Amino acid sequence: MRKTKTPRQKQILRMDDMCSEIIRRRAIARCGGCEYCLKPKTYSKLQCSHFIGRTNLHTRFDLENLIGGDGNCHMKMEHNPHEHEAWMIKHIGSEALENLIIRSRSTDKVDLDKIEAFLKESLERWRLEG
Ligand SMILES: [Zn+2]
Repeated sequence: MRKTKTPRQKQILRMDDMCSEIIRRRAIARCGGCEYCLKPKTYSKLQCSHFIGRTNLHTRFDLENLIGGDGNCHMKMEHNPHEHEAWMIKHIGSEALENLIIRSRSTDKVDLDKIEAFLKESLERWRLEG
């Protein structure tokens, strides 16, 4: 990997940070902690877990693909794709999961600026919630 990051790489990292904050705030709002095991966790103990891996830019910033989980559950789900899939079906439903998979297989060019603008709006809303 090159030492200096390109503006695009910097933008992606900035967007990852925004997603992480949104998802952790959302997990606290949804269940007060880890969305996988439902144990109470503070904001700083939560991580942003991806169902479809980060290498896929089409779903890397897709909030439906992201789950706020603690470190243990995050690691466990990463190593158990079948369990992760079963959790997703239960959590968002098979129709939404299929639509997510379809989005992940898109061949459209990813418009990072457009997604970043949306993430900024979303983050402002979550921050208002406190
Ligand atoms: Zn957990």
